Amino acid sequence: MLELTGVTHVYANGTRALDDVSVSIPAGMFGLLGPNGAGKSTLMRTVATLQTPTAGTIRFGDIDVVASPEDLRATLGYLPQDFGVYPRVSAYDMLDHMAVLKGVHSAADRRATVETLLAQTNLWTHRKKAIAGFSGGMRQRFGIAQALIGNPRLIIVDEPTAGLDPEERNRFLNLLAEIGENVVVILSTHIVEDVADLCPRMAVLAAGRIQLEGAPLDLMART
Ligand code: ADP
Ligand code: ADP
Repeated sequence: MLELTGVTHVYANGTRALDDVSVSIPAGMFGLLGPNGAGKSTLMRTVATLQTPTAGTIRFGDIDVVASPEDLRATLGYLPQDFGVYPRVSAYDMLDHMAVLKGVHSAADRRATVETLLAQTNLWTHRKKAIAGFSGGMRQRFGIAQALIGNPRLIIVDEPTAGLDPEERNRFLNLLAEIGENVVVILSTHIVEDVADLCPRMAVLAAGRIQLEGAPLDLMART
């Protein structure tokens, strides 16, 4: 369970991107829906410990995320919105390198990790190709593969379907849905269908505030 209480973020220029956000996010897929500028990326970066909130607390299980960001990072998988700058190395070598950075030191463990992730994300046949030449859908699946290194218990994906064609989108969303029930997966998006199709629970963020929270079907029945 991820629990945010009174989370506020005010940028140096005075923009109040998050305003007293409180929400409890159980295991499973959770949709964070909102228009551009709502504060979704700010919230995702804050939970991912790339930004410190101006006020508020964030807990993930026993972890006080604001006080001990390194504890969260050890169990976090993050696919940022701007995940898109790729070196000319192969998918296999890049994942292997990222596994080293995540602390998977034994060569045998790394090989098992990388092979499993390449298979899971349907990239096995592309493992020797440079990521720079991947299609949008392949890049996003690679982005999920790197986010899954080390079996994180919290996975954050920020606007992952932007720029994907319908087939790539479905493939990507089905992959997310498979990832697991004991894991908290937060899917941030401005696309209603991404959430309605996949997420048992969701919240709507607008102007930095949670406007609605609940099961998608209940919320849609109300509007
Ligand atoms: P922080 O409060 O986290 O230090 P800043 O307000 O200093 O953030 O801004 C960080 C950087 O983001 C600056 O270079 C700033 O110009 C840039 N920036 C400002 N406005 C926006 C915006 N609307 N979206 C994205 N980046 C922005
Ligand atoms: P979303 O991801 O929902 O599009 P963001 O979190 O990117 O929303 O932005 C929320 C608000 O904060 C917007 O008004 C945006 O312009 C502003 N903002 C985002 N980053 C910065 C920054 N670094 N500095 C100042 N303002 C920012």
